[in-house]
Amino acid sequence: MSLEELRALERERLVPAYARLPVEFVRGEGPLLWDAEGNEYLDFQTGLAVNSVGHCHPAVVAAIREQAERLIHVGNLFYTEPGLRLAARLAASSLGGKVHFANSGTEANEAALKVARKAKPGGTIISVHRAFHGRTYGSLSATPQESKQAPFAPLVPGFVAVEPTAEAIARAVDGRTAAVLLEPVQGEGGVHVLDDGVLRAARDACDAHGAALIFDEVQCGLGRTGTLWAYEHSGVVPDALTTAKALGGGLPIGALVCGPRLADVLEPGDHGSTFAGGPVQAAAGLAVMDVVEDPALLARVRELGELLRHALGELPRVTEVRGRGLMLAVELSPAGEGAPDLVARALRDERLVLNATGPATLRLLPPLTISQDHVSDALKRLGRLLGG
Ligand SMILES: *Cc1c(COP(=O)(O)O)cnc(C)c1O
Repeated sequence: MSLEELRALERERLVPAYARLPVEFVRGEGPLLWDAEGNEYLDFQTGLAVNSVGHCHPAVVAAIREQAERLIHVGNLFYTEPGLRLAARLAASSLGGKVHFANSGTEANEAALKVARKAKPGGTIISVHRAFHGRTYGSLSATPQESKQAPFAPLVPGFVAVEPTAEAIARAVDGRTAAVLLEPVQGEGGVHVLDDGVLRAARDACDAHGAALIFDEVQCGLGRTGTLWAYEHSGVVPDALTTAKALGGGLPIGALVCGPRLADVLEPGDHGSTFAGGPVQAAAGLAVMDVVEDPALLARVRELGELLRHALGELPRVTEVRGRGLMLAVELSPAGEGAPDLVARALRDERLVLNATGPATLRLLPPLTISQDHVSDALKRLGRLLGG
């Protein structure tokens, strides 16, 4: 089908929930993508931090193929090995405790919210401005963005949003608080790193009032910021964390890691999902963990992140660079082309895949396996786009 035919079919048969860019990708390898006409693109968007090990990583493809040939699904009424091995790996690499699988980021957060509520019945959930935790009702109720929430009111009761500051969080947490839910680096909100002091204040407030501190590492986890988990930069350890995006190498999987305090809150029958933790997704997850747990890769993410951050700051129209590791955003001077138009032009004229999180904010999420040459190449293309 041609792009025109695809667009016509979309208009006729897809609920118009997405604003798509006019390109059909048909193949990917490492940091590169190819469209239906054979044009090659450099991917600095990675399906929104999903393809962190690059497209079609050979170890991920092999793991999926081997498992798919043996067993694809039996469900959670039986044992399968890949999910248990991945649970052990996730827990050992983070909080200890125990893992509950989901199929996406929002579902991992739903599980976290249910655990927190069950641990403190009727308790309030506190999240912060600019947060994004997902689109299902619980996660959406913790996502204080007017445009995302308003059409779907009424939301789940018992959610409170405060400023992402130490003072505001300390003031909001009290004996009725079940949980504080935070992204250590806010992704969809425009790549804002929460200060260590904010995380520390949340930790102290939760400790003082018996509330659970939950970190949403759906986007910033799994090596994206240069440590396996983003919380490691701060030294503040949460009671639970959620992960998803990069975990399945492109397959849908999410996970909630409950530290020891919350590990046994859920009992049989409390919560579950038909597909969660299935053997193919889990096998892919194990292959991804092999790549992203490598200290050499993590060191490289930090090194290339610094290089990129510095070079981005030198580009025309860039007024601010934010982020950590290879999770970066640049703020553009308001005069001139907006970020969404720039993303469209980058795709068309420079064959560089980027993302905009706001009218003047570009987000960069390259594969963690990217080479320095590809980073330099992306910077050249960005320089031309920004009028260097
Ligand atoms: C993307 C994202 C989610 C939602 O994940 P889905 O898989 O789209 O449901 C939740 N939290 C954060 C921080 C995210 O970036």
